[in-house]
Amino acid sequence: KKTQKNQPVSNQSHCCYCSMQCSLQLVPSDKHESGLVVKPSPDFPVATGRLCQKGLNSLDHVVHPSRIKEPLVRVDQDRNNKWSNTSWNTAFDQISDKIKELQTTYGKDAVSVFGGGSLTNEVSYLLGKFTRVALQSKYIDYNGRYCMSSAAAAGNKAFGVDRGLTLPLSELENAKYIILAGTNIAECQPTMMPYLMAAKKKGAVIVTIDPRNTKTSKLADIHVRLQPGFDAMFVNSLLNVIVNEKLYDEKFIKDRTNGFSELVETVQPFTPDYVEEMTGILAPKIRTIARGFAKAKTGIVFTARGLEQQVNGVENTLNYINLCLTTGKIGKPGSGFGAVTGQANGQGGREHGQKADQLPGYRMLENESARAHVSKVWGISPDELPKSGVSAFELFEKINAGDIKAMIVLGSNPIVSSPNNAVVEQAFKKLELLVVVDLFETETAEYADWLLPGSSFLEAEGTLTNLEGRVFHRGKVLDTPNENLLDYEIICELAERLGRGQYFQYESIEDVFNELAKASAGGKADYSGITYKRLKEEKGLFWPCPDPEHPGTPKMFTKEFYHEDGKAKIFAIKPEKPAEPIDSEYPYILTTGRLGNHYLSGAQTRRTENLNKKSPIPVAEIHPWLAKKVGLIPNQKMKITSRRGSLEFHVKITEGIQPKTIFVPFHWGKELAINQLTNDALAPISRMPEFKICAVKVKAIK
Ligand code: SF4
Repeated sequence: KKTQKNQPVSNQSHCCYCSMQCSLQLVPSDKHESGLVVKPSPDFPVATGRLCQKGLNSLDHVVHPSRIKEPLVRVDQDRNNKWSNTSWNTAFDQISDKIKELQTTYGKDAVSVFGGGSLTNEVSYLLGKFTRVALQSKYIDYNGRYCMSSAAAAGNKAFGVDRGLTLPLSELENAKYIILAGTNIAECQPTMMPYLMAAKKKGAVIVTIDPRNTKTSKLADIHVRLQPGFDAMFVNSLLNVIVNEKLYDEKFIKDRTNGFSELVETVQPFTPDYVEEMTGILAPKIRTIARGFAKAKTGIVFTARGLEQQVNGVENTLNYINLCLTTGKIGKPGSGFGAVTGQANGQGGREHGQKADQLPGYRMLENESARAHVSKVWGISPDELPKSGVSAFELFEKINAGDIKAMIVLGSNPIVSSPNNAVVEQAFKKLELLVVVDLFETETAEYADWLLPGSSFLEAEGTLTNLEGRVFHRGKVLDTPNENLLDYEIICELAERLGRGQYFQYESIEDVFNELAKASAGGKADYSGITYKRLKEEKGLFWPCPDPEHPGTPKMFTKEFYHEDGKAKIFAIKPEKPAEPIDSEYPYILTTGRLGNHYLSGAQTRRTENLNKKSPIPVAEIHPWLAKKVGLIPNQKMKITSRRGSLEFHVKITEGIQPKTIFVPFHWGKELAINQLTNDALAPISRMPEFKICAVKVKAIK
């Protein structure tokens, strides 16, 4: 197998963390033992000249001494933490032999793949193709299921397409009213804050809706401290005012939407007074927001995981979309809806076939013409394409049921990021083969039979798609340690050893992109007019971009939505209870979230000294009311118990949280993994777990 020689070609790259994908450069310096430091780069129009702490420190994990530098195999079958190093050749031989043995005994679907939302578009695409063409298995899903799946389902239902932001960030400053619901931009996408500040400077009113007073809510004119689980009801009260005071945009509703009359009926019971009684949010505040948003000339609504990571996450998102559709604030300058993607390539990662039911270009796997198109590009018969599999968490349930015997995990740490992670641990212990490709021995890799060295963001060339839907090229800057293989080369070589190498013949990663573009042609996320050359020359292009002359589509829905009749669908939402409402035994709500110093499961940021020393352990935030009730003082430890287990945390007592809500960040594993307690109930359509609400009881530790 040819191995591309890793030659530095550029000092320009993009941060590996959040969906802003800020550009950065590596410059020589004696301030860091690697001889390099990260500086902001003006080479990209999104966050020109800015990087947050995570971006500035993003080199640290790349040069960390604990990076895996050669293939590792378990010394014994008990996976007792002893590894032996081996050659790539041995690794590929033995892994592929085991896969063949398992598939011969149990069938093709016995082997599964778990991907990630920080992988490049090319690797995301290849993982989907590898699963369906090389493994010939239906079981692939990825950690983006825990991130954007509710927003994606809502976008598809309302607009006919799922693109996180429907407008470029540059339009934020023209918005006169901005609602940020369940999104903590200041910590999760810090370089977006200047866009909000610019809007505010030009007179925009900013409303935040969050159970916590976050760093983002400090910028807000109005903060609504809503208890988790009441999102749909709260939005219905806004819609109630908009409907009954006739503040809606009649022409827009008539010309461009369906479903308004049902919404009119549904929101009637949710008067501001009733919703004040149910939520504690004052009726005058509700009226102020509803009138302010509806009457503003331009307006934007952004949502994120706070309201999406619930069993009712799709409906919550649909209701926020309703605010834009009823007031005509979408597809026009300075107006639009956006679900703010979290992961580095959260947008692109879900467009190219990593999802259990999708093919590249957002094509549905069960659609006959989609199967015909993609199988032709792949050179196989449509009949050879497996059917849809199951969502991320359900893969672990399938393992525990004995249906899946092997898993390949690439760029993800699901034992930290999955809900109720005892289920994942049980599954990992049951697997006959677990292969992990990663930079480090993560908590997931501790259960693996094989640990293969992955390539970092500075080592692998490729494309990503940021939260705006802007596709861009990220160049290679450094060699992999020991000139190891790149992730895409590992996938292709495994395909070769499985006897399917003829479908994975690429000279370069650009070849993979060109095939991806063909596979996406005619799909909703159409990349067929995009080339590496254009991306480099034009500093990114927004999809859809269906031909080489097409300028890309920064702004969605200016004329039509993606449903057949060109109209958007308004869905009347009846609020439903969470899967695990509080009761007398478990009287408080546990909600999880992110900190500015960490990223996802913390595999990289916990190994970054400057970040980790600022947030070395998770701390539970509680309200003084709860502290008094339980008898807690600052820094004392508290035991949190859900129906799935108990954990102990130091507490931070703060007025800035809703009294019955406890917040714990999720970036840690093992005894600090809050996902030991979270609920694995899944949303019916999106299969999103309910990370944001589970019922708990608490006790002070003396
Ligand atoms: Fe930019 Fe996000 Fe990286 Fe911070 S974490 S530098 S905001 S891409």
